[in-house]
Amino acid sequence: MTIDSTTRPALTAPLALPSNRVTRFYRGGALLDRFRAGGTAGLAAATADEPGGTGGAPNADGQQPEDWLASTLRVWTPVGKALSDEGLSVVRVGDEELTLRELVQRRHPAAIGGAALVRVAGPTTGLLTKLLDTAQRLPVHCHPTRAFAERFLGSRWGKTEAWLVLGTRQIAGEEPPSIRLGFRRDVGRAELRGWIEDHDSAALLDAMHQRTVAPGDAWLVPAGIPHSIGAGVFLVELQEPTDFSIVAETAFPIAAEDAHLGMGWDVMVDAFDRSGLSEDALETLRQPAESGALGAADTTTSAKRERLLGAAAAPYFRAERFTLDTSGGTTRLPWPDTFVVGIATSGSGRVISSGGSMPVRAGNTFALPAAASTDATIECHESLEILFCLPPEPEALATTGWQSRDTAAGWRSGDTAANSQSGDEAPPS
Ligand SMILES: [Zn+2]
Repeated sequence: MTIDSTTRPALTAPLALPSNRVTRFYRGGALLDRFRAGGTAGLAAATADEPGGTGGAPNADGQQPEDWLASTLRVWTPVGKALSDEGLSVVRVGDEELTLRELVQRRHPAAIGGAALVRVAGPTTGLLTKLLDTAQRLPVHCHPTRAFAERFLGSRWGKTEAWLVLGTRQIAGEEPPSIRLGFRRDVGRAELRGWIEDHDSAALLDAMHQRTVAPGDAWLVPAGIPHSIGAGVFLVELQEPTDFSIVAETAFPIAAEDAHLGMGWDVMVDAFDRSGLSEDALETLRQPAESGALGAADTTTSAKRERLLGAAAAPYFRAERFTLDTSGGTTRLPWPDTFVVGIATSGSGRVISSGGSMPVRAGNTFALPAAASTDATIECHESLEILFCLPPEPEALATTGWQSRDTAAGWRSGDTAANSQSGDEAPPS
């Protein structure tokens, strides 16, 4: 891998991630506007004063309820339609503006994605992070496992995801903010297919676990498990870098062709994990925050480090929260050679790396290229809380059926359209 000497220094500085809103078929986004304007402190008012409006205006719900952070992938494009670049994050490196996808896939894979990850997974950041705010319940859907995605969708990435709830609001006429996750009992293949084709949402929802959610809650959503985020939930979503959703409720304004990704239900009904999840098994998907160690030499302040996702998430992604409360205090970030996405949730400060620094305040988002993560520090002005989202641990990838580049020799020629919409490398042209 050769690194262009003129742009190399810029890759050792933090990259700003401005808003990158994406059009979806469901409404939301009011809390996202508020978060961008002032972090989590700005969300409290929304519970007392529910935003209204018809979309487009600040603090109003509309058709852009998601903000994709450090995205190397496009939104799903129906089969046969022209690819759009919606979804791709654009970053400024030196004097140049270009997509993060171009930067990591074609120009500087290791400097962006990290040498260790790129060695295992190829030129990738290994991660998609979203801010997502719902004003209506999302349809029940699932995402493919890596094995399923490789077999049917031409992507080595599936889409296990995780939810970190930042805020909630009660939407008039809707249930209290909640999530649905997994079937309560074993569901037959024909039974599920019948619910899908008969648009029987009542039967589908009745078969699922439901939990109310509050800020601070975190859930792991393994690929295959059916799920739905309820109305009034604002969260950070960490995902494997694909946009494959298999939608079981086709009464929603989503074309039948898109619901099964153009593959038909004969194939796609098997993307769902139909086995019943016990109450205990469901609880293992809830992710309690755990205190993490901070070296005394690495921090000059009473910084707090918390791991937000457990070991089961490590083959897919990691998330941590750093809280600093001493003005001028600094803390060294403990992830050398790692692509890092930062979401400042409260306070203000600076992110400092060997090639530059960037002021951050609540509601800002940024990325650290792997070349900037080594010895990066954060500095606090009075108070600062940042969520850090990280790609999978490279060693942990192999534990989940990850196809190494050697064993995936036949994979590259196997697909054209689908993997241009995943965060996997583009097929050779
Ligand atoms: Zn999902």
